[in-house]
Amino acid sequence: MLDSFGRKIEYLRLSVTDRCDLRCQYCLPKKFNHFLEPESWLTFDEIERVIRLFSELGVQRIRLTGGEPLTRKNIVELAQRISTVEGIDDLSLSTNATRLQHLAKPLKAAGVSRINVSLDTLDNANYRRITGGLLDKALSGIDAAYEAGLSPIKINMVLMKGINDHEVDEMVTFCMARNLTLRLIETMPIGEPGFEATAQYVNLQSIENRLAKKFAAVPGHMPGGGPARYLKAGESGAHIGFITPKSQHFCETCNRVRLTADGQLYLCLGQNDKVDLATPLRTGVTDDGLLNILEQAILAKPEKHEFNDKPYQVLRFMSTTGG
Ligand code: SAM
Repeated sequence: MLDSFGRKIEYLRLSVTDRCDLRCQYCLPKKFNHFLEPESWLTFDEIERVIRLFSELGVQRIRLTGGEPLTRKNIVELAQRISTVEGIDDLSLSTNATRLQHLAKPLKAAGVSRINVSLDTLDNANYRRITGGLLDKALSGIDAAYEAGLSPIKINMVLMKGINDHEVDEMVTFCMARNLTLRLIETMPIGEPGFEATAQYVNLQSIENRLAKKFAAVPGHMPGGGPARYLKAGESGAHIGFITPKSQHFCETCNRVRLTADGQLYLCLGQNDKVDLATPLRTGVTDDGLLNILEQAILAKPEKHEFNDKPYQVLRFMSTTGG
């Protein structure tokens, strides 16, 4: 499935809920509670149908995301259903890990192979300040994921000046000691909290250069369909990733689209272009009709985001689109 810029689209990020049990300061406002009503969420049957058709068009990878995907009831059953769709050979999950302690094993058994975990700090007070939650819960979740054999486990650290940028080296050491792959991420101007986080934006270039020297690192590679650039540390062989949507965008290799919990297909994280799948799904569209809608949608995928030129155009929160 090629878009109009010749990019092969083979990756769907599926937001299963816009709800989250944390309020990361760059993602959701502290007291925000105005979420989609569950009646509007796609049912598991609807999701499975859309994924089956995407798979016919060449999508092979699915990532469960949100919101916090593990807050969706019966998420293990959904994972099981998706992982057995013909043609889907990579099912992964983005999570804040707060519920992984109990869910890691069943998710692995249901076919989730690898996970990304948000972890911006190793300091209890700082974690509370950034997310509103408890660090211990996330750390126990990461331990449980490791024990369950989910691999690789990638740690996503959104870097913010004066908030957690002094913790990079500590996080590198933490991850190396536990066989976790750290990825540093630049803040994106998405929704009001994302706009506000622009004030703490850190360009990762100089950090990448410094870590490359410190660890005698060379360019590396990790499995996964995402946009990170990796360094491989000389001695340990550990990988450190850099996701730089603002300082060095990667739109020319973008291979994905995103489906929200209420069935809106967003064609670019940083643009407002979307196609409604919920209405046709609920008004009797045939498989051929839906395939046609998906194909037309892919052809309308924008060339690139405009985070630098038009930083205030994406008003929806990251938790809506699914990170
Ligand atoms: N709850 C899950 C999690 O914590 O990974 C999945 C959803 S979360 C929206 C996905 C990712 O988006 C997380 O790594 C989060 O840190 C990142 N994120 C959210 N808002 C962001 C922003 N404004 N800029 C950069 N990354 C952001």
